[in-house]
Amino acid sequence: MKYINTLLILLFVINYTTGQDKIKVVSSASIFQDMAKNIGGDKIESYTIVPIGGDPHLYEPKPSDAQLVKSANVILVNGLTFEGWINKLIDNSGSKANVYTITEGVNVLKSEKYKNAADPHAWMDAGNGLIYIKNIRDALVETDPKNADYYTANYEKYKNEIATLDNYITEEIKKIPEKKRMLVTSHDAFAYYGKRYNIRLNALKGISTEAETQTSDMVRVSKAIKDSGVPAIFVESTINPQVIQQIAKDNNVKIGGELFADSIGDKDSEGPTYVKMLKHNTDVIVKALSQNTMTSTKIDTDDTANSWLIYLIVGMIMLAALVFAITKFNK
Ligand SMILES: [Zn+2]
Repeated sequence: MKYINTLLILLFVINYTTGQDKIKVVSSASIFQDMAKNIGGDKIESYTIVPIGGDPHLYEPKPSDAQLVKSANVILVNGLTFEGWINKLIDNSGSKANVYTITEGVNVLKSEKYKNAADPHAWMDAGNGLIYIKNIRDALVETDPKNADYYTANYEKYKNEIATLDNYITEEIKKIPEKKRMLVTSHDAFAYYGKRYNIRLNALKGISTEAETQTSDMVRVSKAIKDSGVPAIFVESTINPQVIQQIAKDNNVKIGGELFADSIGDKDSEGPTYVKMLKHNTDVIVKALSQNTMTSTKIDTDDTANSWLIYLIVGMIMLAALVFAITKFNK
């Protein structure tokens, strides 16, 4: 009995210390949870408040979120009004966690539509992604300094991966013909992406998904589609695609595919991580905006071939008529 008691105490102590070993990192959204996982590895327990596929602009925290936030050691937030509900959630939960704003150091863009509002979607530029992950590394090191070397080693590896992605996107977007290098989407989440990778933008809604779509916005977007001649426009994984589908139909353009903006995709999707989501977006955009150019070139060639055929037939008829006339005269 004595032995069993000692064993139980020992097990409890081991369990307690290993449990204590891992710090609990709670991110506001799935993109940042993925970044934290890449750096924290098996030294952290990583959670997200807004689940994959959820819309962080419109999220309403649940009682279980308050529990999660209360038990956290580290809380990672984007800020720039992305998660307008988060400060209240943290305050009400009584959390004693270290709270970090991981956009710190980013060159913030202002919204085109709402002049004074900051655009929160900074992660869409992989160059900014490097700032995010540095802030996350620093947050983990500060909260859990005994694992500093581990976090830094993971960070260095992840940094290379994101830098490679940044170069990949730059080179891929260049493949789209200049005139058609325009991205039409549901909400204005691509300004940082557009600025970094040199692609023009036209979104139906502003930087938040909150407002209803106005008829004037639909008219503006339709005009931009006609002016640029883009062959495709895009839906987003966290937003109802109905209006974009209607605009595509009205303007006789294709839906180029689904883009990830405010959430990564689930594990069976094309964008289950931050790096894969930006790569997927780029591949979908490049394919949709340049492939149709090739199709239209093909149609042009067909047209040319068709007119040659018509000339040939007309020519042969004329020749036949000439031969007929000559034979008739000679009789
Ligand atoms: Zn958004």
